[in-house]
Amino acid sequence: MKLKHAARVILIGAPGVGKGTQTERLLSRFPQLQSISTGDLLRNNVKQRTALGIQAETVMKAGGLVDDSVMLRLISNELRTRGWLSAPASAVMSAASEAVQDGQDITDEPPFSRPSDDPSASFILDGYPRTPVQATTLDSIIPINLAVSLVTPFSVILDRITSRWVHEPSGRVYNTGFNAPRTPGRDDITGEPLTQREDDNLEVYSRRLQRFKETSEPLLEHYAKKGVLVEVDGMSSDEISPKLFDEFEKMFVR
Ligand code: AMP
Repeated sequence: MKLKHAARVILIGAPGVGKGTQTERLLSRFPQLQSISTGDLLRNNVKQRTALGIQAETVMKAGGLVDDSVMLRLISNELRTRGWLSAPASAVMSAASEAVQDGQDITDEPPFSRPSDDPSASFILDGYPRTPVQATTLDSIIPINLAVSLVTPFSVILDRITSRWVHEPSGRVYNTGFNAPRTPGRDDITGEPLTQREDDNLEVYSRRLQRFKETSEPLLEHYAKKGVLVEVDGMSSDEISPKLFDEFEKMFVR
């Protein structure tokens, strides 16, 4: 399905709500849409040993958040490389190369960037923004025009996670709710024992959920104030997808 103008989207949802699934479905329904993951961009920079990657690596290893100014450099470079932020070539070249060469922070709003409204400049951002500061910064270079809050009752997500069993050698996944193994606790093919992933338990999930609540609430508030927040709820990914598509089409297709 074709978009009429640029969709600049973020999905906000608790761990286990199925953000990845919805992103994949959106990408296949709207081929002009692309996903940009800041985690992937950072990992690429680390692998290629760029100045930015070297700077970010220690923090990533420690599980912390990479500095906002580094994130701004990362994301604005990516958007420019894709041609989605227009700017006088000289201004971009000098600002970008300065920043990369001497590792200086760009903290001010870049005065020269202008977002493209062409439908080909459409993206779902994954992993960014994570904080209201990042959201404000992003809005100053390329404003998000749809933030979707995906909502499934926590008890339903938890139930889904704790019912998940895996056969580790093959990676086969079972769910005692809707895809149970023929013999409880045993793999259908090999008969070997099934196990649960370390993070598929109540304690770990509750911790992740708490962290999500703390970080997402201010973000939701930010996008609500901007008037671009919609909420889509459902008990499963299949229930959420059609509602999400509808919101998308209302905004970018019809
Ligand atoms: P992810 O794959 O999204 O979990 O990201 C992996 C790591 O990259 C995170 O643990 C952070 O250290 C870093 N990272 C990714 N996105 C951001 C962001 N928006 N702000 C700060 N750090 C980030």
